[in-house]
Amino acid sequence: MRKSIATVSVSGTLPEKLEAIAAAGFDGVEIFENDLLACPLSPEEVRSRAADLGLGIDLYQPFRDFESVPADVLAGNLRRAERKFRVMERLGADLLLVCSNVSPDAIGDDELAAEQLRLLAERAAEHGVRIAYEALAWGRHVNEYLHAWRVVRMADHPNLGTCLDSFHILSRGSDPIGIEAIPGEKIFFLQLADAPLLAMDVLQWSRHYRCFPGQGNFDLTGLTASVLRAGYAGPLSLEVFNDVFRQASAERTALDGMRSLIALEQSLDGVAHPAVPAGFAFAELADDGTLGGLLSALGFARTGAHASKPVELWSQGEARLLLNSRDQESHDGPALVAIGLDSPDPGGAVKHAGSLLSPVLPRERAPEDAPLDAIAAPDGTEIFFCDNAWLADFGEGALVEGGITRIDHVALTQPLHYFDEAALFYRGVLGLRPQESLELPDPYGLLRSKAMSSPDGAVRMVVNIAQVGAGHHPWQHIALACDDVVATARRLRAEHPDLLLPIPDNYYDDLEARYEVDPELRRLGVLYDRDGRGGEFLHLYTVTAGRVFFELVQRIGGYQGYGAGNAPIRLAVQHAGA
Ligand code: MG
Ligand code: MG
Repeated sequence: MRKSIATVSVSGTLPEKLEAIAAAGFDGVEIFENDLLACPLSPEEVRSRAADLGLGIDLYQPFRDFESVPADVLAGNLRRAERKFRVMERLGADLLLVCSNVSPDAIGDDELAAEQLRLLAERAAEHGVRIAYEALAWGRHVNEYLHAWRVVRMADHPNLGTCLDSFHILSRGSDPIGIEAIPGEKIFFLQLADAPLLAMDVLQWSRHYRCFPGQGNFDLTGLTASVLRAGYAGPLSLEVFNDVFRQASAERTALDGMRSLIALEQSLDGVAHPAVPAGFAFAELADDGTLGGLLSALGFARTGAHASKPVELWSQGEARLLLNSRDQESHDGPALVAIGLDSPDPGGAVKHAGSLLSPVLPRERAPEDAPLDAIAAPDGTEIFFCDNAWLADFGEGALVEGGITRIDHVALTQPLHYFDEAALFYRGVLGLRPQESLELPDPYGLLRSKAMSSPDGAVRMVVNIAQVGAGHHPWQHIALACDDVVATARRLRAEHPDLLLPIPDNYYDDLEARYEVDPELRRLGVLYDRDGRGGEFLHLYTVTAGRVFFELVQRIGGYQGYGAGNAPIRLAVQHAGA
């Protein structure tokens, strides 16, 4: 399908926006009026710039507060419209978005609205322009898409149709199934935006928190399927107002928008996800020589070494960590640099990632190495898709038995600008399902955290960003599943008293007030959480080495969370020690 994007969705001046949008492969744009007003180029120059870039101008917007007005106001509104029609002729745009009136002076009278919109459509027709009427979720009288459609039907003019905007429809909780009763040729335009579920004023929600399809909580696939079933044949157009996107790289945002539309098309086509990983194969850490001691203390042993590279394999149970001393200069101490995922179809996984515009990384390797294909996650972490062949490179020795059994989850810190991109990446590329999204206070700021998991919970990822505040540390952590956290904590406290993060007594005073827990948790510094269904979570943290720390976790009774309520305690202790 034809793919478009509103210029308001990306940062920069209008020429910069057009460049970035064209580079991402879009077919067309919606010119947002403010972008044109602030641009030194004439409409004719914008038109030829877009044409040179291969972009059509699919829509000009917005035209506000037109309909349902007293007669004296109407005259001025028609005059205003005439001026815009002339601008559109110069731009070579033939579709104008008119959004429902929000003025307190608007009159709640559908017949009047229809009559005035019909008049507008007649004038528009003289200029070869069509009008797409959209119900704003906060419109004074018309704020539901079916209401806008009733007015359009009543007006009954070939140059008047409706514009559907997924945000305005889904933010109000309207059922998109009603779209299927609108004749496809009367749906003049479709604007797509997702959003996280937030309890706030709908106008503020729309202006600041829209995001690309697949990055929020709305069902864009279901809505778009209804629009297509109605017979709509126009573009899929992204219209996103987002405070972060406004500041981020236009090229990167436009590419991410394109990725979201490709993923949407794939889900509409029922393309099966080929690549849901079955577990963690390994986590790879850049090491400056300090991690071996920490891992030994945790019960890991060096079980192999790469045949041709300075990379060691450390194992315990099915938990495998690679310590890479090759390019330690490029890191400030230990850092998590790569994640290996057990994939039922590594080739298919990389191909699917490529179809979603993920960078496939060149792989320099000795000829005898297993052919591991990697892609780059938004924060630069390398993601490898593995079958078991990679282990042969390391000549892994006997299995090491200890309390630790496997990697439970990996938590990465994203740059602020990549948070929504990361959500789409892990969902679209890896097939993980979004879980809880939380805001966590830290002593010097606010951390936003989103968890994602494979359907069976075998692969869990947490992405964090510093939402506000300068006291941000780009910590990453690897959480290791443990059969008996308390027993392991007893051993660690006795043998390596400085290895574990000290937890304040005040935390336990509160914990013991809420739950009847074993007083030994306090002595050992083990944290505790319980879910609404009786599931329990025991966990503890090591001190940080470079950017990295380890967490030992024990899930009891089907607990699916991450102990998020304890994260602020952990962050405060880490800040104190940093
Ligand atoms: Mg809209
Ligand atoms: Mg964790």
